[in-house]
Amino acid sequence: QHPAPGGLLKNLNPEQYAAVTAPAEPALILAGAGSGKTRVLTTRIAWLLQTGQVSPGGIMAVTFTNKAAKEMLTRLTTMLPVNARGMWIGTFHGLCNRFLRAHWKLAGLPQGFQILDATDSVSAIKRVIKAMSLDEERYVPKQVSWFIAGAKEDGLRPPDIDVHDEQTRTLAAIYQAYEDQCAREGVVDFAELMLRSYEVMRDQPAVREHYQRRFRHVLVDEFQDTNKLQYAWLKMFAPPGQGQSVLAVGDDDQSIYAFRGARVGNMSDFEREYRVKNVIKLEQNYRSFGNILDAANELISRNSRRLGKELRTDAGPGEPVRVYEASSDFAEAQWLIEEAQALHRGGMDRKEIAVLYRSNAQSRVIESALFNAGIPYRVYGGLRFFERAEVKHALAYLRLLENPNDDTSFLRVVNFPARGIGARAIELLQDAARASGRSLYQSVSAVAGKAGSNLKAFNDLVDSTRNLTVGHTLREILEQMLEISGLNEFYRNDKDGAERLENLGELINAAEAFVTQEGFGKDAVALPVDELAPGAISEGLPHAVAPAQVATPDAETGEIMSPLAAFLTHASLEAGDNQAQAGQDAVQLMTVHSAKGLEFDAVFITGLEEGLFPHENSLSDGDGLEEERRLMYVAITRARQRLYLCFSQTRMLHGQTRYNVKSRFFDELPEAALKWLSPRNQGFGSGFAREYQDAWQRGSGLKSMVGAGRVERPSYAEPPVPASMKKKVAEEHGGLRVGKGVFHTKFGEGVLVTLEGSGADARAQVNFGRHGMKWLALSVAKLTPID
Ligand code: ATP
Ligand code: MG
Repeated sequence: QHPAPGGLLKNLNPEQYAAVTAPAEPALILAGAGSGKTRVLTTRIAWLLQTGQVSPGGIMAVTFTNKAAKEMLTRLTTMLPVNARGMWIGTFHGLCNRFLRAHWKLAGLPQGFQILDATDSVSAIKRVIKAMSLDEERYVPKQVSWFIAGAKEDGLRPPDIDVHDEQTRTLAAIYQAYEDQCAREGVVDFAELMLRSYEVMRDQPAVREHYQRRFRHVLVDEFQDTNKLQYAWLKMFAPPGQGQSVLAVGDDDQSIYAFRGARVGNMSDFEREYRVKNVIKLEQNYRSFGNILDAANELISRNSRRLGKELRTDAGPGEPVRVYEASSDFAEAQWLIEEAQALHRGGMDRKEIAVLYRSNAQSRVIESALFNAGIPYRVYGGLRFFERAEVKHALAYLRLLENPNDDTSFLRVVNFPARGIGARAIELLQDAARASGRSLYQSVSAVAGKAGSNLKAFNDLVDSTRNLTVGHTLREILEQMLEISGLNEFYRNDKDGAERLENLGELINAAEAFVTQEGFGKDAVALPVDELAPGAISEGLPHAVAPAQVATPDAETGEIMSPLAAFLTHASLEAGDNQAQAGQDAVQLMTVHSAKGLEFDAVFITGLEEGLFPHENSLSDGDGLEEERRLMYVAITRARQRLYLCFSQTRMLHGQTRYNVKSRFFDELPEAALKWLSPRNQGFGSGFAREYQDAWQRGSGLKSMVGAGRVERPSYAEPPVPASMKKKVAEEHGGLRVGKGVFHTKFGEGVLVTLEGSGADARAQVNFGRHGMKWLALSVAKLTPID
């Protein structure tokens, strides 16, 4: 019962229509923000499928963030019922991971290889530097990690590095040692995912031919931000002249990843190498009202290196862009929360409200203000749930269950909670492992005495947990592991452990949500998750009964991946978004970088101050400033109806109070589109800002003012969080209330712990005491509230 093709295509303008139905040959869409590029791309996939030109397995679609990939799938599934399992839709990293899971052997990886996130990778490099007895001051682990990632993005292995001086020779040696260590431990970092899969494609003709035959249509969103390796990777899957249809979609004005090696030049290279006959331009903006668009157009017109595009809208001017000057970052947060609440009261969903910032560090103040006000919010990127220490400890134990030779995880938890294994013993163990080329886990017998037997006991703990949990649900595995490892006990006895225990509980929720939503839900992404079998979940009890062994073999490779392995991959790849529960209506917080491609009814751009946005690192050269301006252009063009810009006279950042001048971008916006709001909170008085600005322009800045005794540094203490706020705000749900009693015909009485989702997707988590904690689908389960 697919809708007729006419239905699919009827809401397109002529240019979009032409792009969607273009013949199967290389094409480039070059168009500004909100002109429907992503819509064209997804509609084209739907159209290709619906007209039977290709089966789901013949499609590869790539984008940049997990959120964008999910959105693409959501948009697609609203257009027609598709089998998401067959399609390769995802981020570059997600698809590379999928590829390597299928071809681990050819890639020279262990089957259960694990992914190192950025922090893990830096600490792994740190160990290498230490083992090589190098000076960490001279070879700063973080900088070395940039060097290695940069080399990989240029497709360079250690021997390929041009060692023109002592410094590079050493860096190349560290790179080599790091590679050896990763190979020993069976781990790969993000850049390695890309490079390794690229190399398999390059060196294995049979694999290459398979995929080139398979993917008839390759579509890439946000093409302006591909780097050299990503473009080369794409060319492996769909080289020019092979008759595959490649659609690249991009906007040079939104290129914001030059600092990570993105090459806008890939667009012109693509046009040339693929002999693109028609470059499609889209000029109608469907997203934003006139004032917002005027602001964006005027701002970006200041950039000199542009390919040149037009954008217009029929939507009328809409509301003016509101500008607010706050006295402090707290006042800024307070103001934006009030505005957001007003929008929400006016009927706007919270998830349609986005708060954007240039730097991750800005989020904390906004987060705590939202938290204190009891407003659900969600943070994308930044310090994520999965990066919190206790969560990483738990994940490390889980990783050891999958792969005990993972030295990074081993080191993280071998003596956490403390088991009498000291630094000296670890050093001995590391020496022995290095000497024999084996993993730490395999080398414990080399350590004698008490420490040796403690190490042995640790290995036994890992092994016995593994044996105990074979065939268990992911939830059970997690629960057992948390007990056996001693993590639960440790945090129970820790006076500040309550929140950490909560996070560990949240990890169980995350695992369960993962099993249902990712594996079985409509927004499943192209990660190994799709190897889980939908039929394995019995109706009515979506979470609790997924046995660990239900994974069906992958249709292509026959590989079986357990939910545990899939979950660990997910934890490494996906930004944790656990501040608000899945499905809960929450205000969205993210950096401008991670907002790319998304849209919201209302957008707040915060911290518009010189040195912050534009960022101080960018101010020394024109290219840097132009990239900041593109970033601002991206930020502005996320808004549909309302746009708010704000800045603050003072701000606490990295433990210091900064005194700010408003961003130069304000001078680059059309005055007619703006409405300046007078500050409600005159804490510092705007007279100060003006005076300071004058001083700044004279070149003397704050120092002279402080020196002249003019300024007292204000100290801001954050208000403590009242305990009552910590309790989750009870939610209504058809008479059900979180924290209240419920009755179930089979399980009896219980306490409602969580409510999430809506309509057919609504789920409840109930603690049934003797029967344990259960997730119930409210469309099936009969739950009645009791007092
Ligand atoms: P960005 O550069 O920010 O990624 P984009 O070019 O990919 O933007 P889309 O996200 O595809 O733009 O579209 C912007 C909005 O306009 C979406 O809400 C989309 O549904 C809507 N839209 C696109 N084309 C049309 C159309 N022909 N009629 C009505 N709405 C449209
Ligand atoms: Mg887009």
